Amino acid sequence: MDFEKGGLWRNWVGNQSCISRYKGAPESEAQLAEMMAEADARDLNLRVAGSGHSFTPVVGTNGLLLSLANLRGIIDVDESRHRVTVAAGTRIGDLGRALKARGLSLTNQGDIDTQAIAGAFTTGTHGTGLRLGNLASQIVGLRLVQADGTILAIDESDPELLHAAQVSVGTLGVISALTLQTMPAYNLHERLWRDDFETCMARHDELAATHRHFGFFWCPTPESRHLYCLADTAAVSSTDKTADVCEMKVMDITEAPPKESPFERVAYSSDVYPIEYVPNFVELEYAVPLEHGKDAVRAVRDLMLTKHTNCIFPIEYRFTAGDPAWMSPFHHQDSITLSVSGGPGIDYWDFLRDTDTILRRYKSRPHWGKMHFLDTEDVTQIYPRAEDFRALRRRLDPQGRFLNDHLRMLLG
Ligand SMILES: Cc1cc2nc3c(=O)[nH]c(=O)nc-3n(C[C@H](O)[C@H](O)[C@H](O)COP(=O)(O)OP(=O)(O)OC[C@H]3O[C@@H](n4cnc5c(N)ncnc54)[C@H](O)[C@@H]3O)c2cc1C
Repeated sequence: MDFEKGGLWRNWVGNQSCISRYKGAPESEAQLAEMMAEADARDLNLRVAGSGHSFTPVVGTNGLLLSLANLRGIIDVDESRHRVTVAAGTRIGDLGRALKARGLSLTNQGDIDTQAIAGAFTTGTHGTGLRLGNLASQIVGLRLVQADGTILAIDESDPELLHAAQVSVGTLGVISALTLQTMPAYNLHERLWRDDFETCMARHDELAATHRHFGFFWCPTPESRHLYCLADTAAVSSTDKTADVCEMKVMDITEAPPKESPFERVAYSSDVYPIEYVPNFVELEYAVPLEHGKDAVRAVRDLMLTKHTNCIFPIEYRFTAGDPAWMSPFHHQDSITLSVSGGPGIDYWDFLRDTDTILRRYKSRPHWGKMHFLDTEDVTQIYPRAEDFRALRRRLDPQGRFLNDHLRMLLG
């Protein structure tokens, strides 16, 4: 088999790139397996690029870079159990539209829906909701193509293996298909408003407890909200402030008919979750144990108001329930997630490092796809199953075909 010549690959925002020797876009699982066996025989490392929406070096390879863009769509539906098996290259938005047509919905989603499902789910991508797990916790089965082209089918009959694979950042093999636990289709009623920071903190527990989804963006300056293209909800907060305010959002399942206004809407679930972003920021995000959420956001806000006053992208603050996946940032830990971003034209590294220093105090765990400063020892300390995961990875991929320098340091 001849591989196509590779070349330059860049991620969505342009802060990561690689030059691969070869590239490939298989049309079927069988062809994927054949390509992988050939790469193995030629001693080539390989990685898969999803939609390139990770900010960290989790995709790059100098060997074979695969795209699964041709493996798309729903493969099977188990109507009685509301389960769907979906090809790994399917975009989340396309899956949402296919589920809507079948009277189903994903249990939760994140802020965008352009990611390819396998990469997004297995980096621990999450939405918001105190009682809702990350997206990987919807995975009940997956097909993992091993370096020699053999297929490892994983399901709930081996919960340990399933929990290892749910968040595995492409280091256990190439996922060709995922089986997801979905639920009957639902509409969401979304409401947006603006509140002062202290009002937001005072209502934090209540809003998280009484809504299926609650999250907010804290905006240090009036222009902050435009940097993330946030909806133009209201000119001022209840106390007329335009700076140091929070853009608040709640979403609940409702039977109410569709409704659209600048401040609220009702629509099918997958039409409500995503918002618009433009590629103008580099984001760091950590999962902070729930009990430290308010202290953590106060400390990072203080950092931005006093030391890094040129860093004006909003803080995004959300909730995610704990889950059993070994390498999930939410591993048995109900958490809030706190993200900050560096923007173009400024040197944001000190800001990201200072934020990391603050969030480490709370034993926070970074998002695998967003900027962080973890090394081998950090991973071992904050993930109780890290050594189990590494041992499994070495057993499944003894040659380290699926590693690059970044992943070798973290999970090798
Ligand atoms: C604008 C923006 C908004 C975002 N919003 C959120 C959010 O709301 N919540 C959140 O948690 N995260 C969010 N993220 C982060 C994003 O969801 C993750 O980084 C996600 O992994 C990106 O998916 P992708 O398809 O682009 O994967 P990539 O970045 O292309 O790949 C991610 C990893 O998965 C691996 N991979 C891809 N496909 C396969 C496969 N078939 N088999 C094995 N490994 C594979 C890749 O090699 C890589 O290691 C956001 C990112 C951006 C840029």
